[in-house]
Amino acid sequence: MCDHSAVGPDTNLRNQLAGVRGLLLDMDGVLVMRGKLIPGAAEALAAFDAAGFPYVIATNTSMLSRDTLSREFGKVGMSVPPERLVTAASAAAAYARRHFAPDPLYVLVARDSFVEFDGLRLLTHDEAASPGARAAAVVVGDAGDEFTARNMQSAFTLLRQGARFVAMHKNRWWITEAGAMLDSGAYVAALEFGTERRALVAGKPSRMFFAEGVRQLGLERVAPADVAMVGDDLWNDVRGAQKAGLRGVFVRSGKHGEAEIARVSAGRGGRAPDAIAPSILEIAEALLGRT
Ligand SMILES: [Mg+2]
Repeated sequence: MCDHSAVGPDTNLRNQLAGVRGLLLDMDGVLVMRGKLIPGAAEALAAFDAAGFPYVIATNTSMLSRDTLSREFGKVGMSVPPERLVTAASAAAAYARRHFAPDPLYVLVARDSFVEFDGLRLLTHDEAASPGARAAAVVVGDAGDEFTARNMQSAFTLLRQGARFVAMHKNRWWITEAGAMLDSGAYVAALEFGTERRALVAGKPSRMFFAEGVRQLGLERVAPADVAMVGDDLWNDVRGAQKAGLRGVFVRSGKHGEAEIARVSAGRGGRAPDAIAPSILEIAEALLGRT
């Protein structure tokens, strides 16, 4: 493991981020934490906006639509239009639109995210539970209280009858104001265990998700290595981005720390983050220069 404290962090970061033309920014742990803005995050985004530096907020959150997320950012004084967001739900919907339309889907996700699936035929919970129900795909996201035994059974039955299996993500847990919460990846794992099938993941850390994020940056002829994913999750953000050919940048402002850095770096296929920063603010300073 590199000792990043041995040299001035600014010089290190500047060198490690040299050539980066665009950023994918994780939301939880990079911009917000437990529902509150992380210190320096608003300043960092304002600096990127002022400099015209391309960035997209790339989050596995699937409880809220991009429209709602955009409004939530507005409430804390940050201007983030929906087109600056790529979510696990929007990536899953884009995939479903390409591969399954106009056949019906059973989508287990919070109601607000249904808008991402506009124009697609979605089964209601009652339709999904009815005998003889069929779906082209079962799509599982953050369904919250709709992860009932009945709805999980419907998903299981539809999958056994041949529906394709799409997971918005497989995050194990996340931090909310109420503390660590079981995430939808655990429900996906339950369905995988029961059906002995593997879900196709639309969100992080899938290659498809990072490709969608890079596409949304709107850069001409950009190489993946010229884009850095900034995140607090060493597997879903950092390692996933690296596997997709992007640079993986870790920030210490979120849920993972030294123990996870050691784990992700060790062993076969392990790799250290391409850069480590205290927070997004230091990344903005390194990329844009101090004013
Ligand atoms: Mg995060």
